[in-house]
Amino acid sequence: MSEASGTGATAKAGRTPRIAIIGAGMSGILTAIKLRQAGFDDFAIYEKADRLGGTWRDNTYPGLSCDVPSHLYSYSFELNPEWSHLFSPGAEIQAYFEGVAGKYGVEPRITYNTEISRGEYRDGRWHLSTGDGELDVVDFVIAATGVLRDPVYPDIDGLDSFAGDRFHSARWNHDVGLAGKRVGIIGTGSTAIQIVPAIIDRVAKVSLFQRTAQWIFPLANPPYTEADKENFRHNPGVMQHMHRSMSAQIAGSFSQAVIGNREQMKLIEEACQANLDENVRDPELKRQLTPDYQAACKRLIMSDEFYPAIQRPEAELVTEGIERIEAGGVRTGDGRLHELDVLVLATGFDGHRFMRPMHLVGQDGLTLDRAWQDATQAYRSVALPGFPNFFMLVGPNSPIGNFSLIEISEIQLAYIMQLIELYRDGGFRAIAPRPDATRRFNEAIMEAMKGTVWVTGCRSWYLDKNGNPAMWPWSFERFCAEMDQPDLNEFELVA
Ligand code: NAP
Repeated sequence: MSEASGTGATAKAGRTPRIAIIGAGMSGILTAIKLRQAGFDDFAIYEKADRLGGTWRDNTYPGLSCDVPSHLYSYSFELNPEWSHLFSPGAEIQAYFEGVAGKYGVEPRITYNTEISRGEYRDGRWHLSTGDGELDVVDFVIAATGVLRDPVYPDIDGLDSFAGDRFHSARWNHDVGLAGKRVGIIGTGSTAIQIVPAIIDRVAKVSLFQRTAQWIFPLANPPYTEADKENFRHNPGVMQHMHRSMSAQIAGSFSQAVIGNREQMKLIEEACQANLDENVRDPELKRQLTPDYQAACKRLIMSDEFYPAIQRPEAELVTEGIERIEAGGVRTGDGRLHELDVLVLATGFDGHRFMRPMHLVGQDGLTLDRAWQDATQAYRSVALPGFPNFFMLVGPNSPIGNFSLIEISEIQLAYIMQLIELYRDGGFRAIAPRPDATRRFNEAIMEAMKGTVWVTGCRSWYLDKNGNPAMWPWSFERFCAEMDQPDLNEFELVA
């Protein structure tokens, strides 16, 4: 891709804020592009790793793909005719973000290997530091630090005593060959369910350690043909139509089901049950694979490859609880040692950390740890009382049932940009949401959450320490309406 857009022609006279973007993943790249297009060119992107891409940089496990269709999981302004599949592989998604960052001139603006460990709001500006001391002083901070970033390592006795190769799925060790090996996988989330079919052909054996069975929605992943791609290249309107219609389809079906639409939920439940009934023949295996909670209570898994793979002779579903890990493998509660050469921890992420461990100090010495000591809450997912001129993308309660996080991030950023434009035009020097408005918003969230599938009785990464899902409990339409324009009555402004 060649460089696409320099500083936008819309730049207006007025105050020119310095802005720090934290994180060069999907949301950070987006922010840099949109800031430049709006004429805000005094910004830096700080990235703790040595490469952009966020979760798509970190996750490289075999079988990785996104379960949001690729023509929807794309920036709305940078649709991609080259997607290989309906759900394209992770490496292609990473290449997409690298390509977009190159095309829009974002890449040179990223300062790599730089973790912002502290941000302090002092004298009307944010002072950002790394472990080496103060690095930058800015008017606005936009935290684009992602959701699924911190791997969770299971607390299992003897984990460190395993003599073979062991790694988390988000830290895949590609130096370890799997051919002819006995591979154990702990976990049955979206990740593990993608890994099993991807490696089954080359390993001697896969032992999948299941603590909880999963509902699986059957979804095929057809490739796009050369003719399809040619059509997309020459008729971008086709891709725009797909982007819109895929979004509308998810908004009208899955996203409705999870917030209480029984009719839509019934369709999902029936599809998952039929998938199990039609594709798993052995009654005992079927019993083991049958969840005891409602479909989509945990993040619903999409796959038409897992059931065939787990029934292969090289695969074993282990449902006996793990007792401990030993040098030779995994010992289960029945006393059996499952001998392994490689152990993969597909045990997920802590989805409630957001920009932490960054130490934030807002107004009057208020720390983020104190602000979030009882609950990880925000004002409309993007701002925090007591933290002026600080915004988050994909913050608390952002995910809308299996929706594209790119679309969510674009909408949140458009909201934030309106406030930064107001600053430029002299509307305020400092802005933060009012505590009462934030409280009302979160009370409404808690009330609405009662009608969602996520609280119907299952364990999932959606739930915070209080058992509250970190999700958006309303429709996508409501999200669009609430994020259309900031209501300044709900903010405290310092002129
Ligand atoms: P996950 O859904 O949180 O699953 C973690 C798995 O590890 C669960 O099966 C959990 O069991 C198990 N586990 C955790 N600690 C354990 C322990 N001590 N002993 C035994 N089992 C243990 O994680 P994930 O699969 O990495 O997926 C996380 C999220 O990433 C997904 O929900 C999705 O949002 C995203 N993702 C998306 C895709 C995609 O687009 N296709 C692919 C991968 C990931 P329990 O169920 O019993 O807790």
